[in-house]
Amino acid sequence: MEPVLHETVPGRACGSCMMCCKSFPVAELAKPAGRWCTHAKAGRGCSIHDARPGTCSAFFCVWMRNPTLGEEWKPDRAKFVMSSFAGSEVLAITVDPAQPSAWKREPYHSAIRGWAGAAIEARSQVLLINGGRVSVILPNTELDVGVLSPGDQIALSHDGQRFHARVVKAA
Ligand code: SF4
Ligand code: SF4
Repeated sequence: MEPVLHETVPGRACGSCMMCCKSFPVAELAKPAGRWCTHAKAGRGCSIHDARPGTCSAFFCVWMRNPTLGEEWKPDRAKFVMSSFAGSEVLAITVDPAQPSAWKREPYHSAIRGWAGAAIEARSQVLLINGGRVSVILPNTELDVGVLSPGDQIALSHDGQRFHARVVKAA
C-alpha cells in the first residue's frame, strides 16, 4: 500500500514533530518500524532532508491533510500517527511502541471508536499498528491479525454474535 498524496492544510507544518521518523519502516534505509531513524535529530529534524528517501518525501500524515483535526491530533502530541493509503479507505493508526495505549486517551479514544463503527458500515477498516503488528479496531475491542506482508488484505466477518478478522494473503 502506498501513502496517499494530497494537499496539506494551508499553514500547517510538521514543526518539531518527527513521529513518522520513528513509527514507520523506510525500506530505502532498511529502517524498521517503531525505531528512530538514525538521521532524525532531536530539535533539528532530518539531517539528510534534501536527500531523504522518496518514502519520506512523499508522506504526509492525516493530521497534515485534514483541516477538521485540531492541534491535539498532531502526532507528537497525540503519540500516534494516522495515515491512509492509495486505493483504500483504510485508516491506519500507528502507535509509538513506547506508548502503545496513547490512542485510548480522550479525546482520541471516543473519536477512533466512532470512526471504527462508521468504517464497518462503509465496509472499510480502522487499523491499529504497533511495531508492524496489526489489529482491526472495532467499536468496542480490537482483533489482532499479526504481521502483514505487502498486498495482504484483512477480511472482516460477523457470525451474528461477534466479528472475526482473517488475513487474505496477496496473490
Ligand atoms: S507525523 Fe505528520 S506532522 Fe509529524 S513529522 Fe510526520 S508528516 Fe509531519
Ligand atoms: S530519512 Fe529523514 S525524513 Fe526519513 S525517516 Fe529518516 S529522519 Fe525521517
